[in-house]
Amino acid sequence: MDAAMIRTARSDSPKNLLAQVAARYAVAITPAMEALIDASDPVDPIAAQFRPDARELETLPDESGDPIGDAAHSPVTGIVHRHPDRVLLKPLHICPVYCRFCFRREVVGPDGDGTLSGAELEAAFAYIAAHPKIWEVILTGGDPFMLSARRALEITERLAAIPHVKIIRWHTRVPAVDPARVTPDFVDAIKTKDATTYVVLHANHARELTADARAAIARIVDAGIPMLSQTVLLKGVNDNAETLAALMRAFVEARVKPYYLHHLDKAPGTSHFRCTIAEGQAIARQLHQRMSGIAQPSYILDIPGGHGKAPLATPSLREAANGYEVLGADGAWRPYPGDGA
Ligand SMILES: *Cc1c(COP(=O)(O)O)cnc(C)c1O
Ligand code: SF4
Repeated sequence: MDAAMIRTARSDSPKNLLAQVAARYAVAITPAMEALIDASDPVDPIAAQFRPDARELETLPDESGDPIGDAAHSPVTGIVHRHPDRVLLKPLHICPVYCRFCFRREVVGPDGDGTLSGAELEAAFAYIAAHPKIWEVILTGGDPFMLSARRALEITERLAAIPHVKIIRWHTRVPAVDPARVTPDFVDAIKTKDATTYVVLHANHARELTADARAAIARIVDAGIPMLSQTVLLKGVNDNAETLAALMRAFVEARVKPYYLHHLDKAPGTSHFRCTIAEGQAIARQLHQRMSGIAQPSYILDIPGGHGKAPLATPSLREAANGYEVLGADGAWRPYPGDGA
């Protein structure tokens, strides 16, 4: 940490430092998110997520361009196959916004060869078709809602035609950050009678769920597509129980079931956003104590190196002399004698 701090204590002007950030990592923000930024707030949680910051130039030794080990599990271009029953399919690498904490920040962006060619997409479909244990295909990227409705339909139809693919799950930030992109045509394109579609919305602050965003979500849910959420725990954006409770309630009110609260992956130049695991656990416990069960996300960590996800919440059960003790919503441990049978 100290060495990293010293490295940025150079004489470069702030403007020059930001130019270095933009040269290294993609930068974009949508008009909808730009409009949400309160310019009078020096620590605005929307600005913090999308506006480049000189601290991104500080890469710590344990940060990595592939923090969750996707490369180790990529049998063909565009596919990550870590668990037998599900694969990631990444048809493109562009996003409507570029989050400053993105775990794929070394690969996402408008440049480069991120979009799968026709032949690569065929190879990906062939891989999925050849692996009958694949029950679920997770579209990610980049943001797959950046596809045209025509291309989204093509992917949906090809996947749904594979008999063992039952679930097609789209991970996206678009309904919040660029709601106008969620057109009725697009919603039609991701629906199919031959598989079940889910949409997982990435949002990190309740302010992102504007009236337009909620209308976009309603277009998806009204079409019969269930929605889940994912949120990244971010210092200075949402690292307290009040802010996260407001976000989780906003999700539930919009018919989006909270799914994951991610501990921030160790992507390069993101340490200024990272909370400790103990801080995350304390926040998760406060959420359990104060919020409805339907508003609870699961606090998880992607294990570096590609070993999957691990729940991080501290247990509400501990061993005691003649059985167990359980933790109540009031914070008190109470005896539960015996083994539970
Ligand atoms: C996160 C992830 C998934 C999805 O995990 P779920 O716990 O099912 O949401 C699947 N494959 C890979 C490679 C992942 O990183
Ligand atoms: S939308 Fe997702 S993939 Fe795109 S920059 Fe943000 S975190 Fe990364």
